[in-house]
Amino acid sequence: MVKLTFLGGCREVGRSGILLQSKNGSKVVLDYGIRFKGKERLPSEIDTENLSAIAVTHCHVDHSGGIPLLYKSSNAPLYTNPITLRISEILIKDMLNVSKFEYPFGKDELDTMRQNAKFLDLGVRQKVNDDIYLTFYDAGHIPGSVSILAEVDDKCIFYTGDINNQETNLVNIADPTFVPNIDVLITESTYALREHPSRIEVEKRFVENVINVTDNGGKVLIPAFGVARSQEALLILEKYNYDGKIYIDGLARKICNVYQEYPEYLKDINRFVKSLKRARFITEEKYRDSAKRSNAAIIAPSGMLKGGASMNFVKSFLEDPTSAIYLVGYQAEGSPGRKLLDEGVFEYKERIRRKKINGTLVAKCDREYFNFSSHADGLHLHEYINGLKFHNNSKDIFCVHGDNKSATFFAKELVQKGFNAVAPEQDETYTI
Ligand SMILES: [Zn+2]
Ligand SMILES: [Zn+2]
Repeated sequence: MVKLTFLGGCREVGRSGILLQSKNGSKVVLDYGIRFKGKERLPSEIDTENLSAIAVTHCHVDHSGGIPLLYKSSNAPLYTNPITLRISEILIKDMLNVSKFEYPFGKDELDTMRQNAKFLDLGVRQKVNDDIYLTFYDAGHIPGSVSILAEVDDKCIFYTGDINNQETNLVNIADPTFVPNIDVLITESTYALREHPSRIEVEKRFVENVINVTDNGGKVLIPAFGVARSQEALLILEKYNYDGKIYIDGLARKICNVYQEYPEYLKDINRFVKSLKRARFITEEKYRDSAKRSNAAIIAPSGMLKGGASMNFVKSFLEDPTSAIYLVGYQAEGSPGRKLLDEGVFEYKERIRRKKINGTLVAKCDREYFNFSSHADGLHLHEYINGLKFHNNSKDIFCVHGDNKSATFFAKELVQKGFNAVAPEQDETYTI
């Protein structure tokens, strides 16, 4: 009898967290992330007594951001890999520095987290104790991302984390055929309701647009999440031989350097190095000025224009009808990026001589959204699940990491296919 408790990520995208408990009471936590809205930013708290291990699927803070909290009262090993640990630390430090929210942990807990990290390679069955074994499988989402097979007592529980089985340029795809027979699946459902457009078509259209703008004397701002999406955009520009100037700023630049240090997590390090040679890193203000003056493509976080290096450029681009802002990532409801796409305005806050000013600029530049998602869409989630093998009589599926509509819709579809599927709610415990 294994107990499975959903600590977060239930009918929402954010604060993912799952607690598994063996018959003897040994515990393992899979992911412990944060969310950016609401009063409750963290997954439900757990009693860390008998916590035998924590395992994290990838560095995105909706999966990793709350892990330091567990190290306030635990010294359990954190199963991860070098690239996930390194970038999680960068993102969590950044989160603690810029957030107005008071997280109940800080640098000390982050240090303890690092000291307890244990690296686990793909496909290696790791014994945690007599009750629990963990194995990582490639999740295809971003460099270093994994799905986790947790064997607790006699049950095989497979947690996808964030997965992608559609071809991208940065990482290899997730392949369910490597996963042995399972009893329970916990699957993400972010885009269960969506169908992504043809990737190749989007890539071609994106590069054509960038070439058009820069050939006509304009410049293109590509606000992209610093981790993975910025590097994917760079690879796409290189793939279609964009030969104009490319600048990379902020967190995106830092992560490019980290990726070079861990080539084994990329699909093709040679292509990545080649694409980096074409780009200029903005390391000083003077390069930022020359980037603004030239007709170049500038890749700069944040992906939703909420802050970061893109703020150095956005205003001058907005007012220039020859230029463009091409968004390449998910734009949350109410975010500045979404408002720019939907309403053609950019809302900003700034401080001038201690005065807070809220301003609105009407966009004169071209703006468009290009879907370079790193999550499987509905069709591909089904394809992935079709590729998994369940033990006889085992058909339990839990749909997490999707908004209420996506998670419940996906569960319903899986019920129609003969599975015993639900979209669990926060703090629900199931015995399997
Ligand atoms: Zn993710
Ligand atoms: Zn996620």
